[in-house]
Amino acid sequence: MIIGNGNPSLMAGPCSIENEEQVSKIVAHLLKNNIKIMRGGVYKPRSSPYAFRGLGIDGLKMMHEQCKPHNIKIITEVMQASQIEDMMEYVDIFQVGARNSQNYNLLDALGEIDKPVMIKRGISGTIEELLNSAEYIFSKGNEKLLLCERGIRTFETIYRNTFDINAIQILKDKSHLPVIADPSHGIGIREYVTKLALASLMAGADGIIYEVHEKPEEALSDGQQTLNFIESEKLVQKIEHLKSLL
Ligand code: PEP
Ligand code: MN
Repeated sequence: MIIGNGNPSLMAGPCSIENEEQVSKIVAHLLKNNIKIMRGGVYKPRSSPYAFRGLGIDGLKMMHEQCKPHNIKIITEVMQASQIEDMMEYVDIFQVGARNSQNYNLLDALGEIDKPVMIKRGISGTIEELLNSAEYIFSKGNEKLLLCERGIRTFETIYRNTFDINAIQILKDKSHLPVIADPSHGIGIREYVTKLALASLMAGADGIIYEVHEKPEEALSDGQQTLNFIESEKLVQKIEHLKSLL
């Protein structure tokens, strides 16, 4: 699979892996819509320690068991270097979350493996800082890198983050790396996610990562920004139309 070859890559799935039934419904949705990469967190960096923090390695195995037969690739967040070894067998792309974007020990460790890594921009991270985080991994020998714009914290509080669409072109100019946009975390409000996803592709993003769940209102994390299956399907159809303009 190649990301960044001109054909937008879609990565979709729940914020968190919750149970087998949830995973099987998502897998069926991805297959129906020809989405080849599933996202789903099992180690969740939550702002409150009392929120759902993920199923850990068991959740990852659950995801892998259902994705593998259909050749759906898996992207999931790794929070610390000590988790890498156990996760290795089940992960296709390691995600470095916004809160860990400058965890240099983690970046060093990911530089030593032979698997793609997607690095998210830090919560208040500059573009330069994101590029330097990528450089940490690159300098250790892992060149399979993706950059992700997921919004930054600004003075604006009416939405979750300020989604920096400018960053997409700047990142592409300043690096040779594919840029993935995350409109779900970018705005944090479900009804606007589709429009921002389309805007990101028009702005040059190589792909989109977004949250989808059969029943977003019952999701254990980030339900407020998660598309339901109908919305997700409509987004995929709109992206198909948009391809002729890219
Ligand atoms: C996520 O992808 O669910 C996530 C926690 O993202 P971020 O690190 O961008 O907040
Ligand atoms: Mn999330």
